[in-house]
Amino acid sequence: MKSTNINKEVKIKKNQENVCPICCADDLNYGSMQPCESGIYYFWDCYKCGASGKEFYNTVFSSHGQVKTKCGNEVLNEHGY
Ligand SMILES: [Zn+2]
Repeated sequence: MKSTNINKEVKIKKNQENVCPICCADDLNYGSMQPCESGIYYFWDCYKCGASGKEFYNTVFSSHGQVKTKCGNEVLNEHGY
């Protein structure tokens, strides 16, 4: 799909997690998690109105874990201890 035409007549009603931006139904069918530059996203389509899109999530650093030296000595386990 190469079209870059944005339909300005259809307004986004909500910009909220788990809610269809077109019809506001909380009835989205999610695809698998995909990596992107700022974090992850999911493809979704709306069971109610048939709209589709992506839902983006920013990921933030939490902690290191499962750290090993070059020779395989574990320094931190997967929980960071
Ligand atoms: Zn919808």
